[in-house]
Amino acid sequence: MVQYNLQMSNIKKIAYYLNPIKQLGVKNYSIVFPLIGTLGICLMSELFAYHIAKNPHSIDTFAIVGFIGLIVYFSFRNGIRGGLITTLITIFYYLYIIYSRHYVGQQFQAGIETTGTLAILYLFITSIIGWLKQTIDALIEREANEKKRLHSVIQQLPVGVLIADQNGKIVQANKQVSEILGRKIPLGHHIGKDEPLVQSRLRNKPVRKSNSPLLQALLTGKEIPGKEYAFIKNEKEHTIQVSASPILNNKGKVIAAASIIADITEQKQLEKRKDDFINMASHELKTPLTSMMLYIDSLMNYMKKRNNKKEINILGNIQVQTKKLHELVSDLLDVSKINTGKLSFDKETFRLDELIKEIVQDMQRISTHHITFTSKVKATVFADKFRIYQVITNLLTNAIKYSSEKKQIIVNVKNKKEFILVSVQDFGIGIAKDQQQKIFERLYQVVDATEKTFPGLGMGLYISKEIIKKHGGKIWVESEKGKGSIFYFTIPMNKK
Ligand code: ADP
Repeated sequence: MVQYNLQMSNIKKIAYYLNPIKQLGVKNYSIVFPLIGTLGICLMSELFAYHIAKNPHSIDTFAIVGFIGLIVYFSFRNGIRGGLITTLITIFYYLYIIYSRHYVGQQFQAGIETTGTLAILYLFITSIIGWLKQTIDALIEREANEKKRLHSVIQQLPVGVLIADQNGKIVQANKQVSEILGRKIPLGHHIGKDEPLVQSRLRNKPVRKSNSPLLQALLTGKEIPGKEYAFIKNEKEHTIQVSASPILNNKGKVIAAASIIADITEQKQLEKRKDDFINMASHELKTPLTSMMLYIDSLMNYMKKRNNKKEINILGNIQVQTKKLHELVSDLLDVSKINTGKLSFDKETFRLDELIKEIVQDMQRISTHHITFTSKVKATVFADKFRIYQVITNLLTNAIKYSSEKKQIIVNVKNKKEFILVSVQDFGIGIAKDQQQKIFERLYQVVDATEKTFPGLGMGLYISKEIIKKHGGKIWVESEKGKGSIFYFTIPMNKK
């Protein structure tokens, strides 16, 4: 039995060695096998002609048809060099036949002419097929090298990479995936059918298989931006960020998808420590600042009574600066409350149009801009008045800050069916299209040459967005660079 198996595997080896298709991609251009092979066939033909058929002319047809096959075979198996050596031996063999069969006269001339013509034909065949074989080899090698390069890049990446084929089966996973998830990833694992790779939670809710970014990228053909998942590894909570993108063929059909997994546990902890610190620091700063403002107010009243102009002037400046500092600390506190989910709202029913009118009048008193608010709409809302005041003040302050040249500002309120729409329009520096989403992110400020001179920390719009979101409304901007901006927000109408 063992012997039989050995024989089988030897036969397989020989078949593999002889099969030219199996040699594609193997850059074996040695002339040894074509040399020995062709000489062997020549020898066997001679033996057949003289000793078996006993007729020297019995191999005439074979000498042409059979040797063409041999040239094609060796050109395809061993490239141009293999084909050339076979062609050379074949031509010499033809000359040997002419010589050994004693061709004379016209027969001799026809033999030489045929050999010459066949030599040209064989060289042509050899160069075409040999070139084809070598080109295919180079292509296969290039593809294999590219695969190797890609594989080693994927292995070197500091993040986990998972690649699934179009059926959702994992075909590649680097070692980082196993390290991050704390388990070995079996190739062939079906992300849509098999058990999830980790039991994770997204925003504290267990994640269903169909929510896997890799699966979604395969099904939708769209990029799935990074989602954060929490899961337990070694009895500790870890946070990972998973994104995925589809891999499309030339026709735009999804043929695979790749997913990037990053362990952001440390980053999350650092962010939390930072948020805790900002929260604590702004709390600690706000209390003494509030008392300072009260003291300054009473001192101001005292000075006003005594009509001390110089002191009133100095105190006025201190008052303005302290107010700015107080606003900054309040913003910091709000940001940290948003991050920890502790921003609370104290809602009441009030007239939004009246609130806007008051704010516009207050701002107009201290600003050189011309702010118009002519809307006659009666807009009753159920909201946190102070927080909505904060949003409108922020939009108006920005409108003033970013339009120092054209001093016109238009505020409007409209009654839409289900909600109230508020707009604040300026004719200032405007915001480029690609920045219009980003300005609502935390600490985001547009950075370009024109804006270097504007002070600020990029917290106002982030806080405004969160406030409006928590009231069930939306906030957005329409703007053109250099022409001005219109900031809109909506707030559901109070139907009571
Ligand atoms: P801050 O104004 O303190 O920098 P905000 O969150 O209020 O922070 O605004 C974020 C960014 O959005 C600003 O830095 C500015 O680049 C841009 N921005 C906001 N309002 C306007 C506006 N009316 N016109 C032009 N750019 C604006």
